[in-house]
Amino acid sequence: MKENWSMQTKAVQIGTELAPQDVSPPLHMANTYIFESAEQAAHAFECEDQPIYTRWGNPTTEVMERKIAALEGAQAAIATASGMAAVASALMANVAAGDHIVATTGLYSGTYHFVTEDLPRYGVESTLAQADDPAAFEAALRPNTRVIYLESPGNPTLMMNDIAAIAAIAKAHGILTIIDNTFATPVNQRPIELGVDVVVHAATKFLGGHGDALGGAVVGSAAMIERVKRGPIRRLGGCISPFNAWLIARGISTLPLRMVRHNGNALRIAEWLAGHPQVAWVRYPWYPTHPQYKLARQQMPGGGGGVVVFELKGGFDAGVCLMDHVELAARTVSLGDVRTLLTHPASTTHHSVCREARLAAGITDGLIRFAVGIEDAEDIIDDLHRALAASA
Ligand code: PLP
Repeated sequence: MKENWSMQTKAVQIGTELAPQDVSPPLHMANTYIFESAEQAAHAFECEDQPIYTRWGNPTTEVMERKIAALEGAQAAIATASGMAAVASALMANVAAGDHIVATTGLYSGTYHFVTEDLPRYGVESTLAQADDPAAFEAALRPNTRVIYLESPGNPTLMMNDIAAIAAIAKAHGILTIIDNTFATPVNQRPIELGVDVVVHAATKFLGGHGDALGGAVVGSAAMIERVKRGPIRRLGGCISPFNAWLIARGISTLPLRMVRHNGNALRIAEWLAGHPQVAWVRYPWYPTHPQYKLARQQMPGGGGGVVVFELKGGFDAGVCLMDHVELAARTVSLGDVRTLLTHPASTTHHSVCREARLAAGITDGLIRFAVGIEDAEDIIDDLHRALAASA
């Protein structure tokens, strides 16, 4: 019966079975658990069927893990300390020195540096393949390619990978696929149904949803999650704090509700921006000016997500000026929050990147990443209207 539940019912109900007497999940902050006897201790280590030590697993963390696995339609999930801990753990569990990975262009900057700088230091080479060209992924394969790593939509360009096409290429070559589903969330896009093996999340963003808990998750088959848990999580120690897992599990309970609002608001704002004289272009997966609009409607059936990017005709200075004049929207680097947040990457996150490299990565001078919250869309538009007028 649980398999047939809707996304919203799963988001609320899954995980509550772990503490049937509690109407909401209890918070277990204990680092470790006391055994009744030496015999029970020995049994616990042999079977691992009860909590032992929180880096190995924790009852509160398990609530979050069960919810994410259910929403992604996967057998299991493991929670991590941050999105980067999820990305790094998923990759490190599946590569070794001498291996090669193919990753998409348009990666989140932390992932990009991990793939292009850190992994090579451990003997794992990487090639980047053009996000919107499945054939480029096949062309980049080598005999030692172990993983194809995707992020769709990508941060911050919102360029997409054709997930089903690339997963099929990977399957034909016996290669594992991993995707970062942070921007879409399982409400809008279900990569496992499209043939992907492993999903990673920055739960810091939409899953938690309230801007108050860093966290992440790796999602996949039970065997894969065991591998990630016993390897990188236990040995590198990127486990989540139970308190953060409790906050994120609570956030997930309203994820489907919130995403409906994020999706609706973001589409409305994309439409409004597209008609604004100071805006050169707008990119949003569910708005027809996105170069991959048709693909988005297919592989993101739930909605286009909560992030809109647009380019100001006034370039760099106009971006800085908009940042200075918004009042409702918060000037900050994150996304996926109930509050509307905006970033001008050229003057902030990508300030230290040389202009040529920044432009090559699609981060143009007047690019704004607008992470639309769940406030009333008309109030967000009023704020943008006023701030754009002030920077004209
Ligand atoms: N993946 C994506 C797509 C992100 O946007 C981010 C952070 O912005 C991360 C991973 C890393 O998440 P965290 O900041 O929780 O480590």
